[in-house]
Amino acid sequence: MRKNIVAGNWKMNKTLPESVSLVKEIISLLNKENSLQAEVIVAPTYVSLYEVNKLLKGSKIKLSAQNSASEHSGAYTGEISAEMIKAVGCDYVILGHSERRAYYGERDAILTRKVEFALKNELEVIFCIGERLLEREKGEHFKVVEGQLKNTVFNLSENEFSNIIIAYEPIWAIGTGVTASSEQAQEMHAFIRKLITENYNTDVADNTTILYGGSCKPSNAVELFKNPDVDGGLIGGAALKAEDFVAIIKSF
Ligand code: PEP
Repeated sequence: MRKNIVAGNWKMNKTLPESVSLVKEIISLLNKENSLQAEVIVAPTYVSLYEVNKLLKGSKIKLSAQNSASEHSGAYTGEISAEMIKAVGCDYVILGHSERRAYYGERDAILTRKVEFALKNELEVIFCIGERLLEREKGEHFKVVEGQLKNTVFNLSENEFSNIIIAYEPIWAIGTGVTASSEQAQEMHAFIRKLITENYNTDVADNTTILYGGSCKPSNAVELFKNPDVDGGLIGGAALKAEDFVAIIKSF
């Protein structure tokens, strides 16, 4: 179901005690709000998921992991399975983040397996796609994004795809302070929704949540979120400060 979402990807930041205080701060700020126009998700590191989940009980915030394994279980030292993530209290998992693609060589085939295990374990997947600066400069951004979808989540059945949230994150905007303009974001989100219509149908496209990610902050969130095809944001840096994260949530 399409919904407004603001999700905070904490990346490799915050120790366990720091994660606990950040989430307590976010909860206390959100408790002052009468109603929220967006679902709120936080994605701490694996080691903080258990404690953060306990604190989230009874709050309006949902829990996500930042990654999950491409295998079910067994001799995969250092990996964390989708089943484990679900069991610790996550409803979501972020897959395909550009940092995973760039630094850990995660390609379409691996991502397809990761998505498969996540869905089998009843996790909703925040699936990240986006082009590099050079690709945009060459005018290849639409083709790149189309390929990233066609080789992975577009092979899912309509029913499976209903558990996919797309996060469009132009790589040149991630952690750089350079945000896509409101027009650039809307243009790409509308393109992605058109591709979903072509691959599935209008109903599926209308029901898919498409988030924007890349230097989204309190000063630009209103502009970005007012677009008809931008259903919220995947937030990195600004999610590490409770006041900024809550200000972004209140931008709807
Ligand atoms: C991200 O990494 O998903 C992200 C959007 O980061 P930032 O907001 O810091 O650009």
